[in-house]
Amino acid sequence: MKVEAVFIALHNNNLQGDNKKFNCEKPKNFLQHSDKMYKMKQLFFFIGLLLPVFSFSQTEKANKPAVDTPVVLKNVRIVDGTGALIQQGQTLIIRNGKIAAIGISSRVPVPPGAKVIDLSGHTVFPGLVMMHEHFEYREGGDFSHAQPISYPRLFLAFGVTTVRTAGTDHPYVNINLKKAIDEGRVPGPEIHLTSPYINGDGERFHRNTFLGDVKVRTPEDAIRVVRYWAAEGMTSFKAYSGISKAALAAMIQEVHRLKLTITAHLGTVSCSEAADLGIDNIEHGFLCGTDLIDSTGKQIEGEDNPIVQALIKKLVNKKVALTYTPNQRLNPFSDLEFEVMHPHIREKYKKMKPEDTYLKDIPRFTRAQAFSQAGGVLLLGSDAAGQGRIAGFTNIRMIKTLVKGGFTLEETIKIASLNGATFLKIQNRTGSIAVGKEADLFIVKGDPSKKIEDIENVEMVFSNGILYDPKVLISAAKGLVGWQ
Ligand SMILES: [Zn+2]
Repeated sequence: MKVEAVFIALHNNNLQGDNKKFNCEKPKNFLQHSDKMYKMKQLFFFIGLLLPVFSFSQTEKANKPAVDTPVVLKNVRIVDGTGALIQQGQTLIIRNGKIAAIGISSRVPVPPGAKVIDLSGHTVFPGLVMMHEHFEYREGGDFSHAQPISYPRLFLAFGVTTVRTAGTDHPYVNINLKKAIDEGRVPGPEIHLTSPYINGDGERFHRNTFLGDVKVRTPEDAIRVVRYWAAEGMTSFKAYSGISKAALAAMIQEVHRLKLTITAHLGTVSCSEAADLGIDNIEHGFLCGTDLIDSTGKQIEGEDNPIVQALIKKLVNKKVALTYTPNQRLNPFSDLEFEVMHPHIREKYKKMKPEDTYLKDIPRFTRAQAFSQAGGVLLLGSDAAGQGRIAGFTNIRMIKTLVKGGFTLEETIKIASLNGATFLKIQNRTGSIAVGKEADLFIVKGDPSKKIEDIENVEMVFSNGILYDPKVLISAAKGLVGWQ
């Protein structure tokens, strides 16, 4: 097939160029172990399981184009991430890591010496900007395993080129992983770091606790903790369900004084109260503590209820973004998902009875839709932090869920890319397909505007103009999810 031939050509290119950087240096630490070890992993699978793969394998980075070699994607459909209608018969040129030209194929000249990839029958999307992500996995219980090896690869393999984390038990793993990705030592998405879960002692019902929680009990506590994590490099903060109103108020004030942002998985404090305190973002759509519980203690369903309407209006007016996380796991899982699972987890999910979990949370879905239609900033995140929800797979499945629920493909992609980029204030360099922006793209075989299932056929991913082969990325994560 054409595409594979191009991969081979690009690989050969890579063998002459990048290998110097990634193979010949003597490894100085576990971050920089050589590709020889990865090759050994392939030859001796059992031993290989014990070896770290916390760096690039030889083939993961399919192509880093030589400085001036443009890559031309010919005859593609483009969904650009702005909400504009899908465009047919386009050519897109990548040069020096950026998008250099876009237009109707007959009118965009191919630069001399360019690598031309004819992608008839394929659709190009902007790299996804996902806003509720974790580099950890928990299978019930109150602690998680960090996933610094499998998750960066799996995000990238499904077109997620930027993530904001949403709380962590492993802050320093995230900090160091971000550094390794930024320096080009590890494949993975651009990471925007959020603090650990900053929790309190709230009422039992609203107090999810993890062993990695940072507990704040007073406003002074909250300020001290915000300053500490900001100094360590966190640009975003996550308050958790048991935090008190006083501590949350102090946190919000201190975070804003530092010109950073704060989001929350609410519980003790309601959505309405958090909006009044000036919070920037609320996680899990309308998971709102006490706002949407009626006098009998029951959840208020749907979006037509006047209490829901008033809350939507308030959140829109106060410019509070909502991160929607429709992450029902696929059950039965795909073969590829079983393959990336660690055997312990695989056994558990192989025994599970198949059920169709799509749109299980319809009330939250229709509210999220009503919020978006009222002009609210809707963001998307997978929260793929365990219980069968796996990075990458879950992200791409959410696109399908939103389209099946009634958003158009174009609207959905904007929610999943430009909205997140705009919230992170990086919309001038990524989040949509436009000339001058970073070449952060993913390419699927087929036409998801006709058949949404095609969105899962990711064949190529570009991050800053570097081409990755999803098959290679996924195979480097085999058996690792849930463990590392
Ligand atoms: Zn989460």
